[in-house]
Amino acid sequence: MFHLTKDQVIYAMSPTNTPVLTIPPNSQIEFETADALSGQITSIADRFETLDWTRVNPATGPVYVTGAEPGDILSVTIEKIEIPSSGVTITGKGMGVVGHLLDEPASKLIPIEGDFALFSEKIRLPLNKMIGVIGVAPAEGAIPCGIPDLHGGNMDCKEIKEGATILLPVNVPGALLALGDLHAVMADGEICVSGLEVSGKVTVTVDVIKNQPLPLPMILSDTHVMTLASHEDLDQAVDLAVVNMVEYLYNTHGFEKSEAAMLLSLAGDVRICQVVDPKKTARVELRREYLK
Ligand code: CA
Repeated sequence: MFHLTKDQVIYAMSPTNTPVLTIPPNSQIEFETADALSGQITSIADRFETLDWTRVNPATGPVYVTGAEPGDILSVTIEKIEIPSSGVTITGKGMGVVGHLLDEPASKLIPIEGDFALFSEKIRLPLNKMIGVIGVAPAEGAIPCGIPDLHGGNMDCKEIKEGATILLPVNVPGALLALGDLHAVMADGEICVSGLEVSGKVTVTVDVIKNQPLPLPMILSDTHVMTLASHEDLDQAVDLAVVNMVEYLYNTHGFEKSEAAMLLSLAGDVRICQVVDPKKTARVELRREYLK
């Protein structure tokens, strides 16, 4: 198995980044990851007014995958997510959906015990460990790791979790995969601007798929196929994710577009990943049993 340490990070996904690792297709990699704040808040005394914002949203990588060429698909199966025994959640004035109601920065160190995050003495939240940032280099330019788009990035989607496979476009030779920003718990929306941000380790299997045009990014779980889309405007993100699923049903599964639309209207759940990043992310979930 290949291994990357959490000091091997980038803050933007770009075709000009130098790979820190080269692997053949169908390889397993263990990524160590820093939290979204690069571990800058470790105690109640740490104040995030003094955060170094240039060190926010690091992603470990990038990884060059031999044989991955523009037009291919990078398949990343998440085998395991390991997290430490605490994490941090932050919010404050101007941050997230209710930032206009807040005067002061607020942060909360949250212990993690077994399968639960101890939000308060009375509130124990079951973990849903997930990857916030996962993506590849765009064809040109540099996209900060905090921004989600067609290349993946900061999608903050709670379905990017153990057992899921995420499909990303290959835009440049080698794809240049990077990931980070683990959350121990996060709800759809991520409304305060952060999940339960944790460092950790992620084990993935990376492969290359040839000659299979798909509307990316997509997620495959045991039970569902999902399309994702990001846009500054949430309505547009929803529309794009829905159109992507219709195109997928039409192109890959032989549905008429009207049939696809009706199926999605009855059985395709439209959900929100997050509404707090520079682009908002929506997804459509459809049970895989309807594709047989
Ligand atoms: Ca994030």
